[in-house]
Amino acid sequence: LGSEVELEGEATFDEAEEAGVLGGLEVESTEDIEVPDRLVDQVIGQDHARDVIKKAAKQRRHVMMIGSPGTGKSMLAKAMSQLLPKEELQDVLVYHNPDDGNEPKVRTVPAGKGEQIVDAHKEEARKRNQMRTFLMWIIIAIVIGYALIIVQQILLGILAAGVIYLAFRYGSRGNDAMIPNLLINTANQQTAPFKDATGAHAGALLGDVRHDPFQSGGMETPSHDRVESGNIHEANKGVLFIDEINTLDVRSQQKLMTAIQEGEFSITGQSERSSGAMVQTEPVPCDFTMVAAGNLDAMENMHPALRSRIKGYGYEVYMDDTIEDTPEMRRKLARFIAQEVEKDGRLPHFTRDAIEEVILEARRRAGRKGHLTLKLRELGGLVRVAGDIARAEDQEMTTRDDVLQAKSRSRSIEQQLADDYIERRKDYELTVNQGDVIGRVNGLAVMGEDSGIVLPVMAEVAPSQGPGQVIATGQLKEMAEEAVQNVSAIIKKFSDEDISEKDIHIQFVQAGEGGVDGDSASITVATAVISALEDIPIEQHLAMTGSLSVRGDVLPVGGVTHKIEAAAKSGLDTVIIPKANEQDVMIEEEYEDQIEIIPVSHISEVLDVALAGEPEKDSLVDRLKSITGKALEQREVG
Ligand code: ADP
Repeated sequence: LGSEVELEGEATFDEAEEAGVLGGLEVESTEDIEVPDRLVDQVIGQDHARDVIKKAAKQRRHVMMIGSPGTGKSMLAKAMSQLLPKEELQDVLVYHNPDDGNEPKVRTVPAGKGEQIVDAHKEEARKRNQMRTFLMWIIIAIVIGYALIIVQQILLGILAAGVIYLAFRYGSRGNDAMIPNLLINTANQQTAPFKDATGAHAGALLGDVRHDPFQSGGMETPSHDRVESGNIHEANKGVLFIDEINTLDVRSQQKLMTAIQEGEFSITGQSERSSGAMVQTEPVPCDFTMVAAGNLDAMENMHPALRSRIKGYGYEVYMDDTIEDTPEMRRKLARFIAQEVEKDGRLPHFTRDAIEEVILEARRRAGRKGHLTLKLRELGGLVRVAGDIARAEDQEMTTRDDVLQAKSRSRSIEQQLADDYIERRKDYELTVNQGDVIGRVNGLAVMGEDSGIVLPVMAEVAPSQGPGQVIATGQLKEMAEEAVQNVSAIIKKFSDEDISEKDIHIQFVQAGEGGVDGDSASITVATAVISALEDIPIEQHLAMTGSLSVRGDVLPVGGVTHKIEAAAKSGLDTVIIPKANEQDVMIEEEYEDQIEIIPVSHISEVLDVALAGEPEKDSLVDRLKSITGKALEQREVG
């Protein structure tokens, strides 16, 4: 911190550290950070996507963005609309068609002209109306005069009423029919339009004609007045953004395709039995640039023709979830906080310490060595919660404390669930955290994306009647079988026990809570099996996570930080993790003193730490180590 060095672009990791968490940024708070005007310049990371957007805006190409939620897809689409020329904007008017009331006419005029035309029509109608009223009164005067002369002729009075009624009715009808419906008004538009049609139903996307409950009898609204624009028309000359494109129903996808192809699309009533369905306008322009988005799944489920249309006439781009942790990126993240504060408008600015804490959180959330998260919607959520806390206390600035508080408040559902789960298990004493037990290992798993739980595994070995089987229950069966297979190769080498003649029962204690990722439990299963097979107890004050190769190497797994924190919360004091994951550990300060982390690279090291009962254990570990030696030799030769 406080370093004077100004670093540019790609710095090495050492330099990165030297520049401090703020990347050498010399500011007191986010107030001192300038926020760029253009949205496209506010985008953090995503350089590739940003370049594509700029290029696509110039060439008016469609873009497909694939990536995680909250990484800036809609932000980039909006930024694209700001890059498109505004001069081409058009207003669209819908007129009554005297030849066919059910096929309203459509006229396109330059931006701002639409309003003028409608005003002119209204003015004319007003004058006509005045004239008509004037004439009407003359008629009425004459009739009344005449009636006064021949008072007795009451019938004439009735005739007069008839005349008045007709005059009014004709007059008002004439007005509505003559004034066009200003469907698209771009008069006040500062940039090309941006329309987010994510989750839009057919009517909102493609336009609609309202139902008219009074279809006749002089009360009806003329059909052209019931026409409503769709997002595709509102996005004319601008950007139409659709996230989760695969959730759009197939018919709408097909129509969207037609709209893209033709650059214009007639509006008709979308609900089939309504009077609106009889109406169909002349084509309405919809010359938009489409930005479709979704995750990889979305791409697979989307209408292939639509996808190939976008692909053929545009770009496909991946969004990054993380970015390399450089001083420059950290400075940009500081600017991101400034942007979010400015965008919200009510949050107190962040102090230097508070900015640092958010950046550290971005590191933590990346879950990857030397990277920062780019899931900035979520990080923005943290910024807002922290700012709200500061605001509620009438503070002038948002401080580091506020950020820390916000972090504990803005936990995901999974985290809350996992905490609750840990608490309940403590109540029932399901998490054993002391003593030693044969065949029982405290494993660790991830729930959701960002919370860990302790997942105990129990193994029991029994002689088999027929060929030996691995008997496991639930969703983790396959993983258990694989883990046993991997470990069996190792066991064969050091043990007299032939596991092919034994049944191995594996039970995941209370794994039923769903969403548990079991892939990383294979060293747990292996350890439990070896313990059961050799009758050597396992220390219960520790937990472990790691994947196992056939050679006994411990391979890296995901979510180590969350797993370690879960172990600490459950009252365990030691945790074994793969050495390859050592750099991914970013646990909260409060846990640092509570738990010892032991990185390992081979199953023999796992057993060395986990097995209790000295003599048996030592001989077993020695035997295993000798195998390791051989394995290493073989690897060198191979
Ligand atoms: P997506 O469309 O990918 O789900 P959004 O573009 O809606 O994500 O992002 C939501 C908000 O998160 C944005 O309005 C912005 O405040 C912030 N954000 C997301 N990604 C970025 C980014 N790459 N740069 C700056 N801000 C971002």
